[in-house]
Amino acid sequence: MTRLAELPYWTAADAAELDALTYELVDAVFDHRERGCTVCAAGVEPCPRVRAAIEVVACWRRRRILLSRAKHLRLRQELDHVLAELRELEEARCAA
Ligand SMILES: [Zn+2]
Repeated sequence: MTRLAELPYWTAADAAELDALTYELVDAVFDHRERGCTVCAAGVEPCPRVRAAIEVVACWRRRRILLSRAKHLRLRQELDHVLAELRELEEARCAA
């Protein structure tokens, strides 16, 4: 699994949202177990409902990584474009 903190495009906001989702997942799993799921109570592995909930959070994480990477690359591209325009303006100003 990717170490998110090492990714240049993984922001503090991304991390905070993942923390909130993970908290909700853990809270929901505890509630689920307290309601008496016999599969989860056995403690061997989570039942299909819990696995599905875990997969939802895992899918969100994968999508957020892709979206944050795309946003980062788009902003980088736009910044490079603006910097190139500024250089051209500065060169034109110096030549005049
Ligand atoms: Zn269960």
